Amino acid sequence: MARYIFITGGVVSSLGKGLASAALGALLQARGFSVRLRKLDPYLNVDPGTMSPFEHGEVFVTDDGAETDLDLGHYERFTGVPARMTDSVSSGRIYSNVLEKERRGDYLGKTIQVVPHVTNEIKDFLNIGDDEVDFMLCEIGGTVGDIEGLPFFEAIRQFSHDRPRGQCIFMHLTLLPYLAASGELKTKPTQHSVKELQSIGIAPDILVCRSEHPIPDKEREKIALFCNVRKEAVVAAYDLASIYEAPLAYHREGLDQAVLDAFQISPAPRPDLAVWRDVADRIHKTDGTVNIAIVGKYVQLEDAYKSIKEALTHGGMANRVKVNVEWVDAEVFDTQDPAPHLEGFHAILVPGGFGERGTEGKIKAAQFARERKIPYLGICLGMQLAVIEAARNVAGMATAGSEEFDHETGQKRFEPVVYHLKEWVQGNAKVRRKVGDDKGGTMRLGAYDATLKEGSKVAGIYGTTSIEERHRHRYEVDIKYMENLEEHGLRFSGMSPDGRLPEIVEWTNHPWFIGVQFHPELKSKPFAPHPLFADFVRAAIETSRLV
Ligand code: GLN
Repeated sequence: MARYIFITGGVVSSLGKGLASAALGALLQARGFSVRLRKLDPYLNVDPGTMSPFEHGEVFVTDDGAETDLDLGHYERFTGVPARMTDSVSSGRIYSNVLEKERRGDYLGKTIQVVPHVTNEIKDFLNIGDDEVDFMLCEIGGTVGDIEGLPFFEAIRQFSHDRPRGQCIFMHLTLLPYLAASGELKTKPTQHSVKELQSIGIAPDILVCRSEHPIPDKEREKIALFCNVRKEAVVAAYDLASIYEAPLAYHREGLDQAVLDAFQISPAPRPDLAVWRDVADRIHKTDGTVNIAIVGKYVQLEDAYKSIKEALTHGGMANRVKVNVEWVDAEVFDTQDPAPHLEGFHAILVPGGFGERGTEGKIKAAQFARERKIPYLGICLGMQLAVIEAARNVAGMATAGSEEFDHETGQKRFEPVVYHLKEWVQGNAKVRRKVGDDKGGTMRLGAYDATLKEGSKVAGIYGTTSIEERHRHRYEVDIKYMENLEEHGLRFSGMSPDGRLPEIVEWTNHPWFIGVQFHPELKSKPFAPHPLFADFVRAAIETSRLV
C-alpha cells in the first residue's frame, strides 16, 4: 500500500507547487523509493485538451494518449516516470463520471450529493494503482479556499482517515511576503492560509514557505508555533536560477528528511544525488551561448511551449552551452520578409499549433532556414508546414496547403499535401474517426512507433531505426506526394510501421533540417536530453562558429 503525500497551496497561486512536488518525487527516488505523481485540478473542463494554450499553457500528452495539465510534464522531467492517463483528473471529469453513473442508474435512485458521491469518485481515483509504488504524491491545483477546490480537499481529508494512521501526510505551500519598509518577512498570510486548511479538517504536516529572503530562525519558530507544525517541518523555498536546482535546494533545506520524519521512516535511507549534481554542474559550467528562435503563434505565454523550452535547455546541457530562446511571432511576417526577424539566430524551431493564423509566416521561416542553411526543427505543425514549403517552393506545387485551413474557412483553396486522416492503426487495433468529430479526443494521441530509414540523418541521431514518440494531431502528410518530394531532396526518413504515415522528413542537401510529426520535447529530461534536441543544439553551435 502506497504512502500518500497531498500537496496543497495557499496565499497566492503560482507558488511552484508542481515544481515542489516534482522535486520531492526526485528526492524520494534518490533515497531508493518508487514514486508516482498526480494532479487533481479543480476546473470544470473535462480535460485540458480543448483549453486555450494562451490561458492554460501547453497540453502535455502521455504515452497512453491523455491530454493533461503541463504539471505532468514537470513530474516526468524530474522523476523520469512516464505519466499516465490516471495521473490527472479535473472536477469536470469527476462530475461527468458521477452524472454518467447517475444516468445509468448505478446509484439506484439515491439523491446524488457532493458528499459522498463526488468525494467517493475522487477517492476511487486516488486509490488507483496504490499497490504499485512506495509513495503517491498528489497535488491539488488552485489555492485553499477556492470554491471549486472544496470537494477535493474534503476527499483528501476523508481519504487520510480511511487509511491506517501514518499513511498520509499533507504538505502545504505558502508565501512569506517581504516588506521592504520594515525589512521584515511577514508570516500572517501563512497563518491565515493554514487556518483555512484547518477549518476544513486538514492539519498540514509540512509547510513549504516561498520567500525571496532568508527566513530567520525566529520567524521559523513563529510559523511552527502558530501553524501547529514542527520547526524542522517549516521548509524554505528560495528563488533559483534554474528549476533543475530544486531537488538539491530542497534537500539542503531538509524537505525530504522532513517528509520521511513525518512518516516516521527511520533510519532514513541515504540519498544518492549524483544525477542532480551533474545536472546542476551542466547548468553552471557552460561555454558559450546559442540563440534559437521559436517561431510560433502563442508567443505571449511562454508556458504554451513549456516542454519545448525545457527540451532546448536539456539540449544545451548535453552540449554545455547556454541556450538563449527568443520568441518570434510568426504573424508578424505573414505578409513581410522574415529575414530581418530571423537573421542572427543560430537555429530556428517551428513548434506545433492549430489553425491557419500565422502559418504563412511559419512557412516563410522554413523557407528561410532551408535557403540559408540554418538548422531547422519543425515539430508537428512545424513539420507539416516544412512539407508544404517544399511542395510549393521546390516541387512546384504552388497551391500546396493543409486541409486544416480549408476546413477552417469552408473553402477549397489548397491542394491537400496535409490531409485529414479518418482511420489509422494503433498497436494492433484500428482507430476510426467519425465524420463531424473534430473537437477534443479525436486526434491521433499518445505513443506510436516509427521506423527510421537506415543511413538517414535521424537514424544516426537516434542511434536506432525503431523509435516510439508521442503524437497529438488530426492531420497527416499525404504519402501521395512522397515520391515527388523525395526526388527533390526531401527525404521521408521516418514512417509509421505500416508505411502509411510520414513521421519524419529531412532535407538531404542541408546541414540540419528535420521535421517530425510527433512531439519529441515531451520525452526529454535534464538527465537524459532528447537526442533530437541535443543534436539540434549541437548544430546551432556549429552555425554560431560560422558567423
Ligand atoms: N494542427 C495540426 C494537426 O492537427 C498540427 C497539430 C500540432 O502541431 N500539434 O494535425
